[in-house]
Amino acid sequence: MYLTHLHCPRCDTSHPADRPQNLCACGSPLLARYDLAEVRKAVDPAALAGRSADLWRYRELLPVAEERHVTTFGEGWTPLLPAARYGESIGVPDLLIKDEGLVPTGSFKARGAAVGVSRARELGIRHVAMPTNGNAGAAWATYAARAGMRATIAMPLGAPTITRRECVAAGAELHLIDGLISDAGRYVGTLIADSAGSPDGEIFDVSTLKEPYRLEGKKTMGYEVVEQLGWQVPDVILYPTGGGVGLIGIHKALHELRELGWIGDTLPRLVAVQSTGCAPIVRAFGAGATRAEPWADAWTVAFGINVPAPLGDELILDALRDTAGTAIAVDDEAILADLHDFGAREGLLLCPEGAACLTAARQLRAGGWIRADERVVVLNTGAGLKYPETVDVDSLPVVG
Ligand SMILES: *Cc1c(COP(=O)(O)O)cnc(C)c1O
Ligand SMILES: [Zn+2]
Repeated sequence: MYLTHLHCPRCDTSHPADRPQNLCACGSPLLARYDLAEVRKAVDPAALAGRSADLWRYRELLPVAEERHVTTFGEGWTPLLPAARYGESIGVPDLLIKDEGLVPTGSFKARGAAVGVSRARELGIRHVAMPTNGNAGAAWATYAARAGMRATIAMPLGAPTITRRECVAAGAELHLIDGLISDAGRYVGTLIADSAGSPDGEIFDVSTLKEPYRLEGKKTMGYEVVEQLGWQVPDVILYPTGGGVGLIGIHKALHELRELGWIGDTLPRLVAVQSTGCAPIVRAFGAGATRAEPWADAWTVAFGINVPAPLGDELILDALRDTAGTAIAVDDEAILADLHDFGAREGLLLCPEGAACLTAARQLRAGGWIRADERVVVLNTGAGLKYPETVDVDSLPVVG
């Protein structure tokens, strides 16, 4: 394993990686660091080519030492689909959709769960807990069960009901919360505090960015996009941003690839896509701020991005500015219209969060921020099949 330590991007402190860690004492999330000089000696893009079609193909850049701790359902290496017909209709002919709907549990959250659970297992953790807007809880419950670990999940009532079923089916302890993910977070905080010194065993907090390894799973989307394009970077990557783990992860992956010398200096412009009903990052980016203020009365049909106060705000904003990217909010009506338009033209039922990125691409193209000749990648972060409410069939007449 090439993992060396955990680094605090806010106060620059190093922390050992050989024991469970949550936030830095300064309150910032921690980032996993590797001995990239040694990785470069051990592996190169040609050596990756013949490996397994899952995210473990990047094992030198992942934080799991022993094969027996790898907890997997075959996640990763999702298709990067050209969508020229829809792309041409919005003036972006070189539009590509990375379809994370094919990942186990039907969302890219399984990448984070696979790596996060594997490392937690390696570090001897027996019981994890987290607040979730649905998909992360479903994924962690599923992977925890496979690892023989207990999972306690707290989820708002508004989360997609399928994600509740996934948690229960995987034997997790599910707590429903009449509130937002931030309320679920406070609830989990109490459970974890109460578990300290308990004979029932301590619970480890795996809330978004409160442990460093979920990010390592999600960053593999960045490696894959680049590898699938023949080690070329696209011009723009649009990401539906809730907690921002995927965006921060892709940014981290791009820097690692650059340090490895596997890509050149120019990075894709990263775009944080939010909903007009919950846009703390867009507001902070527009104001030139380094931190985001909590968004009041958050609501959007794209529930995965209904995160009023992301813990990784600083890192998200830094990723946008470092790559000359931007942040944009789109409204629910436009998201659903683009979801339908895309399905009819390309045949793939997107999740609302993925559709939000299409709305953003369309609007950024119309405003000239995206140019006609640019290669644009949209992350479809989940399977449209998990969101039956996006397609109305109740009004169809019965004809026979
Ligand atoms: C969680 C989630 C998001 C947001 O991901 P973050 O990394 O937390 O920003 C987007 N789409 C879907 C489908 C999700 O489940
Ligand atoms: Zn710190």
